[in-house]
Amino acid sequence: MMKVSVNPGAEELRKLLKRPELESSNLETTIAEIFREVELKGDAALKQFALKFDQVELDSFEITQEEIEQSESVLAEDLKRAIQTAVSNIELFHASQRNTEQEIETTPGVFCWRKSVGIQTVGMYIPGGTAPLFSTVLMLGIPAKLAGCTNRILCTPCDRNGKIDPAVLYAAKVAGITQIFRIGGAQAIAAMALGTESIPKADKLFGPGNQYVTAAKLFVQKSGIPIDMPAGPSEVLVAGDDTISPAIIASDLLAQAEHGTDSQVVFLTDSEAFVDKVQVELMKQLSDLPRAAIASKALENSVALIENPEKWVGIINEYAPEHLIVMGKYESLVAENVVNAGSVFIGQNTAESFGDYASGTNHTLPTNGFARAYGGVSLDSFVKKMTYQRVSKTGLRNLGPTVIRMAEAEKLQGHANAVKVRLSLLSTVEENKPGKARNIEKWIRPGLRTVQPYTSARDEFEGIGDVFLDANENGFLNQYNRYPDPLQRELKLEIARVKNLPVQNLCLGNGSDEVLDLILRLTTIPYRDSVAYLNPSYGMYSVLAKINALETKEICLDKTFSINAVQLLEESKECKVLIICNPNNPTGNVIQKEELLRIARNFKGVLVIDEAYVDFCPELSMADEVENFPNLIVVQTLSKAYGMAGLRIGMAVASAEWIDALNRIKPPYNLSGLVQEKAVSVLKSTDWEQLTTSIISERKSMEEALKSLPVVQQVFPSEANFLLFRIEDTNNVYNRLIENGVVVRNRSTHYNCENTLRVSIGNPEENRRFIELMKEL
Ligand code: PMP
Repeated sequence: MMKVSVNPGAEELRKLLKRPELESSNLETTIAEIFREVELKGDAALKQFALKFDQVELDSFEITQEEIEQSESVLAEDLKRAIQTAVSNIELFHASQRNTEQEIETTPGVFCWRKSVGIQTVGMYIPGGTAPLFSTVLMLGIPAKLAGCTNRILCTPCDRNGKIDPAVLYAAKVAGITQIFRIGGAQAIAAMALGTESIPKADKLFGPGNQYVTAAKLFVQKSGIPIDMPAGPSEVLVAGDDTISPAIIASDLLAQAEHGTDSQVVFLTDSEAFVDKVQVELMKQLSDLPRAAIASKALENSVALIENPEKWVGIINEYAPEHLIVMGKYESLVAENVVNAGSVFIGQNTAESFGDYASGTNHTLPTNGFARAYGGVSLDSFVKKMTYQRVSKTGLRNLGPTVIRMAEAEKLQGHANAVKVRLSLLSTVEENKPGKARNIEKWIRPGLRTVQPYTSARDEFEGIGDVFLDANENGFLNQYNRYPDPLQRELKLEIARVKNLPVQNLCLGNGSDEVLDLILRLTTIPYRDSVAYLNPSYGMYSVLAKINALETKEICLDKTFSINAVQLLEESKECKVLIICNPNNPTGNVIQKEELLRIARNFKGVLVIDEAYVDFCPELSMADEVENFPNLIVVQTLSKAYGMAGLRIGMAVASAEWIDALNRIKPPYNLSGLVQEKAVSVLKSTDWEQLTTSIISERKSMEEALKSLPVVQQVFPSEANFLLFRIEDTNNVYNRLIENGVVVRNRSTHYNCENTLRVSIGNPEENRRFIELMKEL
């Protein structure tokens, strides 16, 4: 029977809820002796202790693969299935505790981040004795594996024949334990803490155990090896009122009481009559329990507190139970307000046993009031959090003086010097370098500033090889079997020559569409940043914004499709990226270079000028300005003036810092070898000036022809290789053209583009057919 106390005062409450003292001091000499022996004699000492304490003679400690497999074959199938269900829930819950932390730029140029790194070797102890705690194997082994601990070792005592409970071995197997040893008691803790010939030395120790094991864990903790937590007797506080069946309350109290005679069981309720009913149930259920003797002894130390529900939260917080079960009218109120408990079980269906075995939460929890300051075992228990930082030149300049000032105030001149030396070298390095080093870090997405690119096999060797067995290619064929140059060096040289641009300012993409996507990926934070672009403009911008989960800001052009720098800057000022298509598609008109320069000087984010059509008006190109503006990226393509749309080659023209950053995130082989080869040969063999002149002259003729047609209301001025024109009965004209095999683009649904068609300038024959047809309509 439990003791009953009605409205106990603070003093009485303290006495009633007092836990038994953890006895470790009187064991300390024994433990110290065991540690000394293990340290001196290693495995030999372990054998001696096994014989002395467990009456077993051991030849070897490690459990073999065969033994593990055998245990699997003797275990009942339904138990294995139950264990697997538990494994999958525990895995799911603990895997959700993995979190990636953001890289933070604390001062411009100073980047700090933190990473969870698995503790290399973790030692787990599983007691033998009356109940084989295979569930604890899962609760420790699974988070250790998920955390990335390399060596996950387990010690557990064996019986007189050297055997270990098959359920423990099976659980160790499914939890991914890497080595299992048949050693028990304080000597197992000593072995894992010190390391022996057969037992690896662990960096942290986990697991419950008897008073010797607990004392040994406290002993190692003093010598600097961390432990999960000191294990005291298990405890529960059940809070509930008479809306709950007394049988449920009694079953929870007994589930705890059967753990051990020193188990702590507290029942908190608001009526004496209800306590009586629960006491009756306790007696009824107790008689059927195999561990009735243990449970009834534990109940004698236990207490039922009758108190006004308003005081429940205070009492629970004061006691800080390992397990708290709350049921009935006050369950939400209590659960929401309690702040000291290891694990909380809410509502009448939620037996503590769910958390003990299979719901997914960990059952290794703080006892003895430790819940006031500690949580239970989780993924975090198996990792250490390493911090990292990287200071760029800008960061050195920005934060260096602060550090120097503080170090000197603490009279640590050496600390100050470590920064001073760097700052002084920085200025000499800069003076010798032509041009200014650009700081583009502030525009790059945190997390990508430090990303290391994939290195292809061919990047990793220097010298001349003729047998290439480094990239898993197929040596039987020799035409296309090799991976292409990921940095497309030859093609870039050719583009640089034709376009008269420095080769180090080029990054190639699979069409400029890929380049635009790479730029957004590199610079923006999904679900946070926004991108601005003109409306109407190239339709892909809004698609790319969606793909990259960005907000969009469409800057609407007027009826003549023009806009000035001031208006553009005002509308885009909150945006991370501004894309300007110049000449614009589908309108064909342009923003003058002077205006673009003004935008480049004043826009705070990343300015992207999409110059897909600039080869038809090269004087407007901003490509020669990229060295002057650290936030400027120009995008060009070989799809238009260079007639290679089918080869898919686009490019970013930007400062070398941007090119380096883009190269780090692009897919390594984004242009095929065939494409690179073909493009080089086309670039070499064509007279581009003449070709462009012909296209422009065709455009002029077509513009005249269209203007002369009475049905055409307006032909918009174009500097590109297409014309946008407004025409009566647009859909009908569009369909009639198609009926005659000529396909143009209907842009009528675009903003300010009612009744317009866009026609590309084709070859003279194609253009003639189009104009002929238009005349006939
Ligand atoms: N930008 C603009 C303005 C375009 O019109 C186009 C294609 N129509 C592109 C980029 C994409 O060109 P590509 O991917 O072929 O280089």
